[in-house]
Amino acid sequence: MASETETATETGRDFIRDIVQADIDAGRVSEVVTRFPPEPNGYLHIGHAKSICLNFGIAQEFGGACHLRFDDTNPVKEEQEFIDAIQRDVRWLGFDWGEHLYFASDYFDRLYVWAEHLIQQGLAYVDDQSPDEMRTSRGTLTEPGANSPWRERTVAENLDLFRRMRAGEFPNGARVLRAKIDMASGNMNLRDPALYRILHAHHPRTGDAWCIYPTYDFAHGQSDAIEGISHSVCTLEFEDHKPLYDWLIDNLPVNARPRQYEFARLNMTYTLMSKRLLTGLVRNGVVNGWDDPRMPTIAGLRRRGVPPAALRDFVQRVGVARANSVVDYSFFEHCVRDALNGTALRRMAVQRPLKVVIENYPEGQTETLDAANHPDRPDLGSRQITFGRELYVEQEDFMEDPPKKFFRLSPGAEVRLRYGYFITCRSVVKDAAGAVVELRCTYDPATKGGNAPDGRKVKATLHWLAAADAIPAELRLYNQLFNRPDPGADGDALNDLNPDSLEILRGFVEPAMAAVPVEQAVQFERVGYFCKDPDSTAAALVFNRTIGLRDSYAKAK
Ligand code: ATP
Ligand code: MG
Repeated sequence: MASETETATETGRDFIRDIVQADIDAGRVSEVVTRFPPEPNGYLHIGHAKSICLNFGIAQEFGGACHLRFDDTNPVKEEQEFIDAIQRDVRWLGFDWGEHLYFASDYFDRLYVWAEHLIQQGLAYVDDQSPDEMRTSRGTLTEPGANSPWRERTVAENLDLFRRMRAGEFPNGARVLRAKIDMASGNMNLRDPALYRILHAHHPRTGDAWCIYPTYDFAHGQSDAIEGISHSVCTLEFEDHKPLYDWLIDNLPVNARPRQYEFARLNMTYTLMSKRLLTGLVRNGVVNGWDDPRMPTIAGLRRRGVPPAALRDFVQRVGVARANSVVDYSFFEHCVRDALNGTALRRMAVQRPLKVVIENYPEGQTETLDAANHPDRPDLGSRQITFGRELYVEQEDFMEDPPKKFFRLSPGAEVRLRYGYFITCRSVVKDAAGAVVELRCTYDPATKGGNAPDGRKVKATLHWLAAADAIPAELRLYNQLFNRPDPGADGDALNDLNPDSLEILRGFVEPAMAAVPVEQAVQFERVGYFCKDPDSTAAALVFNRTIGLRDSYAKAK
């Protein structure tokens, strides 16, 4: 990460906040108004979280307002489901737009009038070229474009054709309205960009009122101006669009000039952040919907048990800079662990159960043990757990023929059960195929609470559950969706999918887990952070692994 980033972390400041402050100090701006302008063509992802925290954060810090504006100019790709999901996700992240909910489609009438205004000024024309012809005549970065044969139409002819476009006389793609700027401009965005295209499509909000729609570039700057946005903060790819936005504002009867500032998008290893590609994953059934916990969407992270505070913290620590960079995924995980470690309740779960029978514990008897909810937080209290003759431990905590440094269960070895007793493995029971299916152990009743009165030590403490009241549960373990840090770098990202991104285990959890709310992560001791999935029913509990316990980022530091 660039040094700019580190400065941002220390001071909570960044170059955009510095600009806002300078504008206020110099009296250029009296009220700070920002906006978050998603196109409702998919769910928000973690990159959008950066933009949300930046725009809403600036408004909060400077006592201004942040608008939530949907840039809904392309009805072919936009859906009400996405409009609803985006609002849900922004709220969940902890931000509130108050009464400032807007839609570019609210401005369609005004934008249309302004398009006619440009025509009347001789600054826009209807072009009959086919999309292919337009592409060819646009030129390249090294060659100027060529003027369209329709560029010199009269104002009257342009007005007539544009009105007939609006009236629905022409099919999709037959004509477009273009700004008349400069086909030889070094900036491709100024080579007579399209302002309106014909789209006979139903719009989620305006229904069938329109069959022509403004382009994003025509709608965006004007929407900012209409709403009195003081600082229009966007990602770097819009830097080259700024001269076009300025040209439009200069030539239209709008009396505001939002200032645009660009910052680098958030990129993260192992992660795709393009809605187009994420849409492909959903459509192709690679994942189970937009909120699949493997998705980098806000809805997916939420379902996975990532608390909103962890996302905000991550974004804040990454900082805002103009230099493009790629954040290591392990840094995101590090922030999630940081947020969960101090707050998540401790519970026990066994992922791959191995049965243990305590031979010297009376049949049919059980007892309860006190188990702290958090090792460093007495304020979080404790709960009662059951101990009995039959238990489950983790398969990987037993080895019949262990190497020297293996201190967990093996024939003759003594270990501590967390919150419980010392137990010693006496013998193993195998099935016909020779696999170990049960351990026969004894316990030392004098070691209740985990210490031996004679001072003898054990080197391992295991998590476990009592068979008497352990609840069966489906445990969904998530791994990276892609098996390389730069998915798609060599072509189609679908070729880089990790076949093991989801592993499903049938384990057990302690009874207290039945009452834990969906999405609230707990730490299954020695196993990882998990949260209850909304697929859970009273009869069948499902848990998602939010994240494992090992912190590769902290280690690398
Ligand atoms: P995508 O390429 O993922 O489809 P987009 O830019 O087309 O993203 P929009 O809905 O237009 O998606 O984005 C809304 C806002 O979020 C824009 O201001 C955009 O600049 C910002 N944004 C999108 N992706 C990122 C990112 N990775 N990092 C920071 N901001 C982002
Ligand atoms: Mg966009």
